[in-house]
Amino acid sequence: MKILCIGRNYAEHIAELQNETPDAPVIFAKPDTALLQRNQPFFIPDFSQDIHHEIELVLRICRNGKNIEEKFAPTYFDAIGLGIDFTARDLQSKLKSKGLPWELAKGFDGSAPLSQDFLPVADFPDLKNINFRLEVNGEVRQQGNSGLMLHDFSNIISYISRFITLKMGDLIFTGTPSGVGPVKLGDQLTGYIEDLQLLNLAVK
Ligand code: MG
Repeated sequence: MKILCIGRNYAEHIAELQNETPDAPVIFAKPDTALLQRNQPFFIPDFSQDIHHEIELVLRICRNGKNIEEKFAPTYFDAIGLGIDFTARDLQSKLKSKGLPWELAKGFDGSAPLSQDFLPVADFPDLKNINFRLEVNGEVRQQGNSGLMLHDFSNIISYISRFITLKMGDLIFTGTPSGVGPVKLGDQLTGYIEDLQLLNLAVK
């Protein structure tokens, strides 16, 4: 199982970090040791003073595929869940400024909390109109809608599979909307797709 992530997939988030809008999806990976499941608490690591939350819709791949055409891409994922792409923003900024890979800022242990429940794709009336949000201590911090993604699910799957074979069980984090920000000790993070709470974890 591998975890692939899309960066810079929402215009307002690109603007808030003053990044350039990419022509093609920006892809990076997290190792399986980044996964944090069953609402286990997130422990702030000692190498960062600026861990940011990034709430994201997550696709679960259900078939192996390579060079997947966009029109067939919807048959390659069967469920959508919710995840947080925790990012050590201070470390990432340092790496970015030197043109170096982001792995350590994005792939550290526990950097990928994932909802236990995934919702079957068939339950969504419109994949281009899925609302999701993150609340911190009960206050809405990030709000997104899949219709605002620069690269939609099919585009992402098709693009990735030109380079990397997708396998059953792989996870794709599809990018974060605006509103990212630091977490602090004692925060309680809750994540929702529509009004269904799928994530609820403590920051320790
Ligand atoms: Mg992200």
